[in-house]
Amino acid sequence: MIVVMKVGSPEAEITRISDEFSTWGLTPEKIVGQHKVVIGLVGETALLDPRQLQEISPWIEQVLRVEKPYKRASRQFRHGEASEVVVKTPNGPVVFGEHHPIVVIAGPCSVENEEMIVETAQRVKAAGATMLRGGAYKPRTSPYAFQGHGESALELLAKAREVTGLGIITEVMDSSDLERIADVADVIQVGARNMQNFSLLKKVGAQSKPVFLKRGMSATIEEWLMAAEYILAAGNPHVILCERGIRTFDQKYTRNTLDISVVPVLRNLTHLPIAIDPSHGTGWSTYVPSMSMAAIAAGTDCLMIEVHPNPAKAMSDGPQSLTPERFDRLMQELAVMGKAVNRWQQPAIALA
Ligand code: PEP
Ligand code: MN
Repeated sequence: MIVVMKVGSPEAEITRISDEFSTWGLTPEKIVGQHKVVIGLVGETALLDPRQLQEISPWIEQVLRVEKPYKRASRQFRHGEASEVVVKTPNGPVVFGEHHPIVVIAGPCSVENEEMIVETAQRVKAAGATMLRGGAYKPRTSPYAFQGHGESALELLAKAREVTGLGIITEVMDSSDLERIADVADVIQVGARNMQNFSLLKKVGAQSKPVFLKRGMSATIEEWLMAAEYILAAGNPHVILCERGIRTFDQKYTRNTLDISVVPVLRNLTHLPIAIDPSHGTGWSTYVPSMSMAAIAAGTDCLMIEVHPNPAKAMSDGPQSLTPERFDRLMQELAVMGKAVNRWQQPAIALA
């Protein structure tokens, strides 16, 4: 349920009401919106009558039932307002959200060595990306494929951060690595294969770094939002949803089917920021530019794009990785689109 407070409600009254709800066994969550304060209520609310709640204070404007199974993730829980996720980076805050410029995250699939990660970081920064991606712990289909350099790759990511000031995003696969990863990463990625690893979701929800939650390759939108709900319910409100392609009947010409329609659909259902990953979404670098454009047109808040200094030699996901040169050009192309929707703030770049 959500309790919408009248404009100008005294702070003391909001606290008093929240305390009263707590004595009823409910968990009140105060959400300060642009115009109004809303108290979200989670718990056994099914038997409560909204009119009964309304009576406890003259400052309550309205009491509404949240019908969706995901409560905290629902748009209604914030009375229709979008949330923003602010990521602190050495270069300043990077803000993900509907009313902010599009955030571009770029970098290789895997961190391979110091030279390649630092060079890629410098190149994507020069092109206008504000966050660097790079896998240290890699989820691979084959146990014989490159599994990532693990802890030593985290050190290299820290180095790239130090040199460029870019924020770092990297994946956690096992909760025993979480603390180590959270020490280096500005955003923690939960990959498609772990989207419903509920114990991992609870653990990333119990720490404070923002979480980039990729959609499971066969997950429905509702399952995905319920996965986000796990993180929110565990106490971490900083969640970004990332569409990365789903499994459909035709996987011959693309690795996955990028579900672009998810952007407007999620916009209606949730207040959380939305990202699109056209690299895993298509599996082929030639399709990444057009799908990036499409994602911007659809209203994405963020793009995650794989870039590798030498895709032919990449240890993972080479076929879908752009060269730094192609990424430079793509950023110029995207700037036209981004400006058209009034959501572009990346620094201009000069083509060599
Ligand atoms: C990745 O980002 O490199 C990755 C493995 O992503 P996903 O979980 O979407 O497959
Ligand atoms: Mn990858």
